[in-house]
Order: sequence, then C-alpha cells, then structure tokens
Amino acid sequence: TMAHSKALLMLENFIAGKFVPCSSYIDSYNPSTGEVYCRVPDSGKEEVEAAVKAAKTAFPIWSSKSPLERSQILNKLADLIEHDLEAFAQAESKDQGKTITFARTVDIPRAAYNFRFFASSILHHATECTEMATVGCMHYTSRTPVGVAGLISPWNLPLYLLTWKIAPAIACGNTVVAKPSEMTSVTAWMMCKLLEKAGVPHGVVNVVFGTGAKAGEALVCHPDVPLISFTGSTLTAQRITEKSAPHCKRLSLELGGKNPAIIFDDADLSQCIPTTLRSSFANQGEICLCTSRIFVQRGIYSEFLKRFVAEAKKWKVGNPSDPTVDVGALISKEHLEKVKGYVKKAQAEGARVLCGEGVDSLALPTGNQKGYFMLPTVIAEVKDESCCMQEEIFGPVTCVVAFDTEEEVIKRANGVKYGLAATVWSSNVGRVHRVAQKLQSGLVWTNCWLIRDLNLPFGGMKASGIGREGAKDSYEFFTEVKTITIKH
Ligand code: NAD
Repeated sequence: TMAHSKALLMLENFIAGKFVPCSSYIDSYNPSTGEVYCRVPDSGKEEVEAAVKAAKTAFPIWSSKSPLERSQILNKLADLIEHDLEAFAQAESKDQGKTITFARTVDIPRAAYNFRFFASSILHHATECTEMATVGCMHYTSRTPVGVAGLISPWNLPLYLLTWKIAPAIACGNTVVAKPSEMTSVTAWMMCKLLEKAGVPHGVVNVVFGTGAKAGEALVCHPDVPLISFTGSTLTAQRITEKSAPHCKRLSLELGGKNPAIIFDDADLSQCIPTTLRSSFANQGEICLCTSRIFVQRGIYSEFLKRFVAEAKKWKVGNPSDPTVDVGALISKEHLEKVKGYVKKAQAEGARVLCGEGVDSLALPTGNQKGYFMLPTVIAEVKDESCCMQEEIFGPVTCVVAFDTEEEVIKRANGVKYGLAATVWSSNVGRVHRVAQKLQSGLVWTNCWLIRDLNLPFGGMKASGIGREGAKDSYEFFTEVKTITIKH
C-alpha cells in the first residue's frame, strides 16, 4: 500500500555529486525481523553510463591535485564518518544483521580508518631509479592514476570493504564508480551525504546501487572502466573475469576462503580457545577470514573439544541491537537455509553435531521471531572430503577434526581449493615458522587472529583471489607505471 511504502527508507544513486532517483527499485530486508524496510535502486546500463561519464569528467581535475590536497580531503571524510559513528553503526547493524557491538567496534571505526590510512600512505611512496653508468643512462619510474575505477563489494562488511577500495582509489587520483551489495547499501548511501562537506569534488565518487547481474555487470563491461576491484565470491569472480576479458581489464579479486586453524598440543589453550571461538563465529561467521576447519593434535583433541563446545554454548544469539548479544542475524533467508543445509549434510554423512543447529534450542525475543538466526554450531568427525570441509559455508559453523603429525596436518590444511587465511597455534617458534612457510595461504596468523597492519599485503592464493591490497599493493594496483630512461 502507499502508506506502507512511504514509511520505507528510499535510497537514490549518487552521480556527479547529486542524489538521483531510479526508475525501478529492489526490496531490502532487515535480517533481524525479516521485514522489508528499505528500497534500493535497481540500476542498470543507463545509470552506470551516467556514473562513468561523471567520473570521466571529474578525472582531469582530481588526478592533477597534489597528493597532499587529496590527503586532506580523505582525512576530512574520516573525521565526518567518525563524527557520525553511532548513526553509521546503527544503520549497518540494521541493514546487515550484525551486532551493534561489532558495527561500533569493527565496521565503522575501520571504515573511517581506511580513509585516514590511505590519506597518510599516499604521502610516503617513492618511485624507483637505477643507473647504467657505462652507457650514461639513468632509469626511473613514474606512476599516474589509471582513470575510472569500478569497485564492487559484498554484504558481509559493507562500509568497511567498500571504503577499503574507495580510499586507495581516490588517494591515487582515480575517480570511481562503486556498486555496493544490493543487500547492504544503506551505509554507502549515508557516506555519499558526507562527500561534499569533506571537499570531494562532484563526480570523483559515484555510487550506483543495484544487483550484480544488472548494475555490476554493466560496470564490468563498460569500455571506459579500465580496472575493477572486486570482493565477493569465487563464482562471481569467474564471471567477472570472463566478462572483462574482451577489454583486458586490470582485476583485483578478493574471494572466499575455507580457512584452517592448526592447533598443536603445546598451544596455550587459554588464548587459543577464546580466539578460535571468535575466528569461527564473529560476525555470524560471515567474514572471509573466519575459521571453518579446526585441526587439533590428537593428545589435546578431547580436552579442546570439551572446552570449545562449552564456550560456544555461551555465545548469546538475539536482537543485534542488544549490546549484550554476540551473534546477530544472517544476511538473508536463503543464506540461512544454505548454511543450515550444510549442517544437515554433515549429519547425513555421519558427523556429530556437538552444539547449535538441530541440537540446542534457540529462544528469540518476540520481535525477532522472523529473523534469520542460528546458533553457533560445532561439528566433529567430519571427513576431509566432505562438502563441510571443502566448501565455504560463510555462517556460524565450524568443523573440528584430529591430526597426528605436522607433515600430515600441512597436507590436509592445504587440501582445499581456497587459500586465504590460516591460524597456527603452538608455543614452539621453530614449528610455527616451518608450518607458516608451508601453508598455501595469503595470510597466516600464529597465536592470534585478525590482527592487521594495513601496510602489508592482504589477499588470497588459489581460488581465494588474484592480487593483493595494502599500502604498497593498492598503490600499485590503482596506478599505471611508466619506466623512463634518460641518457646524458
Ligand atoms: P557475491 O560474489 O555474490 O557478490 C559480491 C558483489 O558482486 C555484490 O555487490 C554483487 O552484487 C556483485 N555481483 C554479483 N554478480 C555479479 C556479476 N555478474 N557482475 C558484477 N558484479 C556482480 O558475494 P557476496 O555473497 O556478496 O559476499 C560473500 C563472499 O565474499 C564470500 O565468498 C566471502 O568469502 C567473500 N569475501 C571475500 C573477502 C576477501 O577479502 N577475500 C572479504 C569479504 C567477503
């Protein structure tokens, strides 16, 4: 009804510094209630065309600003996001289903920090220079922005991952057309409202909302967008690679994972257990870096399992806006069914579900009965070749299995198509070092998880991605390099 639709939050595309309505819209759900609360533009070729045109128009002026001028604008934007931190956190939690605590402490602070970080790092790059004295030559490199960058981001860490692309892209002098996930578009739209105040010129950052198939693909196929930075699933990345191939586009692909934790019998369990609970269940297990295969050395296997399961049962599932809640809602009804489906498959194969889905009962507040919730779930005795040990589940489900030797566990940990992140737990520094070297994984955390220095490369091996992001890596991706030779 009209009365109903009036109450909905209506998003608009942001093109050339202006909010513009779209001819059709998509419903967006509040995952914690199951209700439609927002309508997102269903953009297509036409909207993408207008956004690319605006970005092309803005490029000559933005790219000729000094790094210091751009840096000041990025810092201002970081200030404005920090100033509105609570409003952004509330919006992210409502839109995504994540807990307000996670949004307040991780998503939004990091989104602001992404701008601050690249505002700083852009000031500190040096190019290369070599000499060939015998032929009287010196060579040096020069870096320039590429042009219009196409940025496509997923729904799990909406503003966090989008700004991780926008910040380095514009710091380097590119202009951008961004397409956030159609399921979590609200915080990107809120950020657009701050751009003018921060001093970002019109057309430097354009955001088109809509689905991957329509808006995303129009961006990937646009001839005037020479590079695409994508974070999302491996399947979508394959499609993007195919679609962009005729244009020979530069691609950065940050994809899925099936991340192992390897726990040796000399691990400090008082550190390892709480961290492995977080690495398995933080943000409902909807982080590409989440642990979903836990290999425990035989001697401590039963003790680990007992303590781990007892602690997992303490995680409180419920209304994401309740600050005492640890696990919020999953992103959608379809995704919840998919994640639960994996637990059923494991049971059918003879694995043991030790806690969570199908074992314990979930009591939800009255207002959240139709939300997409599930309990943290621990599965044991799963075969390595089982789909639960091979495929990315992307929910609060983790598998625990026993191992005997170092050599064996390295082979098993590497026995999946993915290679994003791993954790290794041991108090033997030699062993930690040996194992870390042999793991096929873009990131290895030993005796910790998720501690990041943004200076260093982030990204995956194998089906987890192509390319790296970080201070130097993002700078290289978002610039074109030229080698110049001068002879005296
Ligand atoms: P997804 O691949 O379905 O969607 C990601 C984005 O791509 C969305 O904006 C979507 O609309 C768009 N898209 C979909 N089809 C497209 C197409 N044909 N052309 C262009 N764009 C298209 O992924 P998701 O479900 O939103 O996110 C979850 C996935 O993201 C998981 O696999 C997770 O591991 C991965 N992820 C990876 C990282 C990382 O840094 N490696 C970080 C977070 C999430």
